[in-house]
Formats: sequence, structure tokens, C-alpha cells
Amino acid sequence: MIESRLPSLPVCPSPSVEHGGERSPALRILGVDDDPVDLEILRRHLHELGALVASFHSAGDLESGLRLAREGEFDLVFLDYDLGDATALDFLARLEEAHVDVPVIVLTGHGDQETTVRVMRQGAFDFVTKDVQQPSVLRRAALNAVEKFRLRAEATRSRHELERTVEDLRGKNSEIQSFYHVLSHELKTPLTAIREFVTIVLDGLAGETTPKQREYLEIALRNCDTLRLFLNDLLDVTRIETGKLSMHFEELDLDALVEAGVQALRATAEERGLELVLEQAPGAPRRARADADRVNQVLSNLLTNAFKFTPAGGRVVVRLGTADEGRSARVEVADTGRGIDPARQERIFERLYQVDVEDFAIQGGLGLGLHLCREIVLAHGGGITVESEPGAGSTFTVELPLL
Ligand code: ADP
Repeated sequence: MIESRLPSLPVCPSPSVEHGGERSPALRILGVDDDPVDLEILRRHLHELGALVASFHSAGDLESGLRLAREGEFDLVFLDYDLGDATALDFLARLEEAHVDVPVIVLTGHGDQETTVRVMRQGAFDFVTKDVQQPSVLRRAALNAVEKFRLRAEATRSRHELERTVEDLRGKNSEIQSFYHVLSHELKTPLTAIREFVTIVLDGLAGETTPKQREYLEIALRNCDTLRLFLNDLLDVTRIETGKLSMHFEELDLDALVEAGVQALRATAEERGLELVLEQAPGAPRRARADADRVNQVLSNLLTNAFKFTPAGGRVVVRLGTADEGRSARVEVADTGRGIDPARQERIFERLYQVDVEDFAIQGGLGLGLHLCREIVLAHGGGITVESEPGAGSTFTVELPLL
């Protein structure tokens, strides 16, 4: 083993030198080569780089090279490819095993492409063929490798920071989810009791009521129902997040289901001064393996939205047909309402997204409905899309696989 230090160069921890107008580090370099003559050539070339090299140590075989690399704090290693009974590939593998992180430039005897590809794959930062080895080539390779190493270390640090942040956010998100879950449950119990007592009073079981009192109680009842829907949506969303949204699949007739769903909301459409039309394409009954309550929930969400965002006098059409050469059912809910800006159409399926901040104040809703619709439809192996033109209306299309 040869160990030498360039006598004319000071050993300094991490100084820097001026290089082409930029600051460059003064490098502590290790050379590993089994040929003492080659090591001496390398030492002389590096000596010519002046203040760029803070110190030079050398080793004549794999084991002593590794020991030095582990013990000394080097900024750069020049490594001969052929180390007698080992190669640079072995050295690089052992460095990795020992978790020694240092940029390595491999010196190869000739420009053998396969060798260079192999050493680069094994973790070398660069290679220099010995026949073109000159101070200027070494200088460029050294500076490039050190810079590349610095950038890689920075990228690794940023990645770790990002991973920690993601982990943190996941933890916080899950805390918020369980808080929502508990809160929704806790609120549902007293709400059910309030609704129960309001109903008792409304039904006259607690004594006579005046028409005015009944009118107020009916308003209270409607608000209880709205609140219950919010809480149910909130509970469903937390179930999605924790993968616990339960589905009860059964073989069912989609035509009958959609017909009943539309029928259930006919009175609401009328109250809002909207025309509600159901168009069923003729053909064989559309049968699917689906969760009836959840499909109802999707239809009811889409219809409620259509009612909310369509002014009185408008029209809402539900079309039921088939798609994908009869393999899927297609349910369209089309309205003549305010429409949705194209830039926001993708985002409306996101959790808590509302196109307009006023939407909550004016129309109610938590921005969860479409998110739930999409998750339910996806759980059925289907899809949901929207086409809309601001001012002209929107059409939501749900496709569900048929049996
Ligand atoms: P919300 O329950 O608050 O209505 P949704 O997830 O159902 O939330 O809808 C998200 C947003 O998408 C709504 O706030 C509204 O801005 C927009 N949107 C949904 N359906 C329609 C529609 N038929 N016409 C216009 N805008 C709609």
C-alpha cells in the first residue's frame, strides 16, 4: 500500500478555491490503483491542479483502499478499473455495502464501452480513460463529479424532507378523519332525538298545536333532515378514507331503481318549479350487480344538484340507456342550469370542492356529494363524467357494468 500526501499542498478541512470565477472546494482525494507507476502519474497530474487539491492519499489494493475510504473523509476517489485480483466493480459494491458515500471516478485502461456502462451502473460518477488522462481532464471530471454528488445529496435531503412532510400530513389527515367520524356520530344521536320530539309535537301527541306552530315545526323538521344528510355524507367520506365504505351488492333491475329514484324526487322538482322528465331507451331490462341504496344515493345527489343549480322554469332530464355495445348501463342527468366552467369540471369530483364560495351559503351542501358519487360508481366498476357549458346546463353521465 502506498500512502502519500502532496508535500506542497496544505491539508485543510474544506476550503475553497477560485475556479473560472466560481468558488470550488479544495478536494481531499483518494487514489486507488495496483500499479505504483500509474499512481505516481495520477499524483503528479493532481499536483498540477494546485490549490484545487487539498490532499492526496493513495492505496495499492482493494482492501487498503476501502479502509482509507471508510476512515478518511474524502471528497473524491480516483479508482483504477483493474485492481489485480479485483475490479472497480467490486470496490464500488463494497463501498455501497459499507455505506460510504463518496463520488468515485473510474480510471479505465481503454475506452471499453461495456466496462464504462457497468461501472456507471454500479454507482461511479464518471470515468476517465488513462490514455487521455491529463490535468485538465482530471480537473473537469473532478469538479463535475463533486458538483453532481452535491446535487444528489441535496436532492436526497429534499426527498427525505418531502417524505417526512407527507408522513406528517397523512397522520394529520387521519386524525381529522377520525375526528369527523366521531363528531358525525356524536351529532347524529341528539339530532335523532330532536327529530323524534319535533315529530311527536307535530303529530299532536303532546297536545294541540296552532297552524303557525306546525309551520315552524315543519321548518325545524326539514332542517333536521338536511343536517342528517350532511352528517351521513361526512360519515361516508370518512369511511372512504379508511376504506370502510360498505357495499351490499345484489342483482337488481336498474330501470326499476332509476324510475323509483326519479319518482321520489318529483315533488321536490315541482316545488322548485322545474320540469322533471325520465326517458328510458327501449330494450331488454338492464340488470346489474349493484348496491341499490348506493345507486339511489348517486342518482339522488345528481338530481339534487341539478335542482339546486337550475333556476325555476328549467328542465331536468334523466336518460337511461346502454353503452359500450350493451355491456354497460348509461344514466344521464341533464339540466338547463348555470353550467360549470370547463376549467373547474375536473375538480368538482374532489372532496370538499365547490365551484363558487357562495355555493355553500346559497345552496347548502358541503362539496362532498360528487366525491361520494364518484367513489360509489368506481366501487361498482363504472365511471362518472360531466359535460357542461356555462349558462347552458350540465349533463352528468354515469356508466355501470351490466350483467
Ligand atoms: P355540494 O353538495 O356542495 O353541491 P357536490 O360535490 O355535489 O357538492 O358538487 C360540487 C360543486 O359542483 C357544487 O358546489 C357546484 O358548484 C358544482 N355542481 C355540481 N352539480 C352541478 C350542476 N348540476 N350544475 C352546476 N354546478 C354543479
